[in-house]
Amino acid sequence: SGETRNDFIRQIVRDDLSSGKHDRIQTRFPPEPNGYLHLGHTRAIWADFGIAQEFNGACNLRFDDTNPAREDPEYVQAIQDDVRWLGYDWRSLRHASDYFDVYYLAAEKLILDGNAYVCDLSADQVREYRGTLTEPGRDSPFRGRSVEENLDLFRRMRAGEFADGARTLRARIDMASGNINLRDPALYRIKHVPHQNTGDAWCIYPMYDFAHALGDAIEGITHSLCTLEFEDHRPLYDWCVDKVDLAGNPQLLQPLLDRGLPLEAGKPRQIEFSRLNVNYTVMSKRKLMALVQEGLVDGWDDPRLPTLQGIRRRGYTPAALRAFVERLGLSKQNSLIDFSVLEAAVREDLDASAQRRMAVLDPLGLVLTNLPEGHGEVVAFANHPKDEAAGQRDVPFSRELWIEREDFMEQPVKGFHRLVPGGEVRLRGIGIVRCDEVVKDGDRVVELRCSLDPETRPGREGANRKVKGTIHWVSARHAVAAEVRLYDRLFKVPDPDDDSDGRTYRDHLNPESRRTVQAWLEPAAVDVAPETRLQFERLGYFVADRKDHSPQKPVFNRTVTLRDTWAT
Ligand code: ATP
Ligand code: MG
Ligand code: MG
Repeated sequence: SGETRNDFIRQIVRDDLSSGKHDRIQTRFPPEPNGYLHLGHTRAIWADFGIAQEFNGACNLRFDDTNPAREDPEYVQAIQDDVRWLGYDWRSLRHASDYFDVYYLAAEKLILDGNAYVCDLSADQVREYRGTLTEPGRDSPFRGRSVEENLDLFRRMRAGEFADGARTLRARIDMASGNINLRDPALYRIKHVPHQNTGDAWCIYPMYDFAHALGDAIEGITHSLCTLEFEDHRPLYDWCVDKVDLAGNPQLLQPLLDRGLPLEAGKPRQIEFSRLNVNYTVMSKRKLMALVQEGLVDGWDDPRLPTLQGIRRRGYTPAALRAFVERLGLSKQNSLIDFSVLEAAVREDLDASAQRRMAVLDPLGLVLTNLPEGHGEVVAFANHPKDEAAGQRDVPFSRELWIEREDFMEQPVKGFHRLVPGGEVRLRGIGIVRCDEVVKDGDRVVELRCSLDPETRPGREGANRKVKGTIHWVSARHAVAAEVRLYDRLFKVPDPDDDSDGRTYRDHLNPESRRTVQAWLEPAAVDVAPETRLQFERLGYFVADRKDHSPQKPVFNRTVTLRDTWAT
C-alpha cells in the first residue's frame, strides 16, 4: 500500500485523503496518440497508475487527441497494448474527443461570461501582439467585441464558414501578465481536417491546455500528474477549470449524460514532476518518428529503440522497467540517467527469473580424442542455480563439441585463464580437459584436439581439482543453428540531442549497433515460445524474438550482457 513508498506526490495524496479533501483518488494517463510510447512514459504510467493503485483509487487512460493532423488509430491501439504490457489497467478508456461537445458548450459559456472572444489576428500578428518576457503584450483590436458578435462568429467558425487560421477563439485574461501563457491564449482553432475518432464532425478543435484541464475536470481527476514543462501552464489550467466551473454548471455535461458516460465532475489539481531522460538515446516522439520514417531503424519495435515496443522486443521485462522507475522515484529535478542503471535493473530481474542454457556464438571445434567415436550421453543440468523449483534439463554431450572461439588463445595474453596449447580448462558440468593439439588451416585455428580427464567428472574423486577457467560448450552433433542478434547502443555519444556543434542525432548513430551471427544452441534452448527469456551462460540474457522466432527457425535477441562491459 501507499505506506511503503514516499515522494512529494504520494505525500500530497496521503494528506488529501487524511484531511478528507478527497475520499478516493482518481488519476489519468493522457498520451497524445501521435506516436508510440517510450521509456520516458514509463515514469508517467508508473506514477499515474501506480499511485492510484496504491491508494485504492483508479486511473483512466485518456487519449489527448485534440490535434487531428498527427494522430492515428494505430497509435491508439499500440498505447493500450503497452500500458497493459507494463502491468496496468484503466478504470475507463476515454478520448479527449469524447468531450468535444462539452468543450464547445464550455467555450460558449466563456463567451457569454465575457471570458473569451473571437480574434481575427493571423498567427504572426498574435505572436507580435503577445510581447516578450520583459515586455507586456498589447490587446488585440478584436478584444472588445460584444458577446453577441463573439457568439455569432464562434458558431460560424463551427459551421465551417471560415478558412483554417482565419480566426481563433481566445481566452480574455491579461495581456500584461508576467506569465505569457495567460496573455489571452487560444482556446479553439479552425482546422478542416478529419479526426481519427470523430471523423468530419468538427472543423474547429480545442487547444491542448483548455481540453486537458476540462478533460480532467469532467472525469473527476483529483490529482493530474504531468511533467515539469507544464508548470507554467498551471495558472491557465486552473483558470479554465474555474471559469468553466463544470461542477456548478452541470448542464454543460448533458451531452455526455445523454450518451451514458459516467461522470464525476470535480476540481482537479495539477502536480508536475521531472521528465525521465536516459543517456545514449533520444526520447522525443518526433525524433523517434524520424528514425523510423527515414529507415535508420527497422520500425517502431526495433530492439535498439527506447520505444516500449522496441524495449519489449529487446527482451526487457515489465518488472524490470517498473523497478527502474521506482528506484529513480519522483522529483522536481531534471536529470540524465545513465543507461547502465536501466541495464542493472533488467539484469537483476532476469538473473532471478531466466533459466540457464548453453549457446556458442562464435564456434571453434573441440574434439575429445580419448572418448570413443560416436560417444553420446546426456548430462542433467540445473535450469537455475538459485532456484531448485526451476528443475533440470538434459544436455547432450558427445565427443565433438563447439566452444567459443574467444575461449582459446594460441599465444595467451597475461591473465588469460581459459584454454591454451598444453593447458587445462573445465568444461562446464563435464570435467577438466587438456589441449593436446591445435589444428590450423594457414593462420586460422580450425580445431582443438583435447583429452578429458575422466577422474574429474562430477561425482569422481578428482571432480574438485582446481583449474582457473570454466568454459561453456555445446555438442556439435546435437546443437541447433540459430540466428542471434547482438545489439549495442544506437548512438555513439551520451547526449545525441545536443546539436550545439551543428550535428544532429542522425550524425551520431552507431554503425555497429546491430550484429547478426549464426550461433549453435543446446536443444533445450530452441523449443521455446516467442518472448521466452533465457540466460545463455557467460554470454548474457537473450529473448526468443517476438516476431521472428519459431522452434523450426530460432531467432534470439541479446537483451543485455551479463556484466556492464561498456567503457564510458
Ligand atoms: P514527447 O515529447 O516524447 O512527444 P509527450 O510529452 O508529448 O512526449 P504525451 O503523449 O503527451 O507525450 O505524454 C503523455 C504523458 O507522459 C504526459 O503526462 C507526459 O508528461 C508524460 N511523459 C512524456 N514523456 C515523458 C518523460 N520522458 N518522462 C516522464 N513523463 C513523460
Ligand atoms: Mg505531446
Ligand atoms: Mg511533447
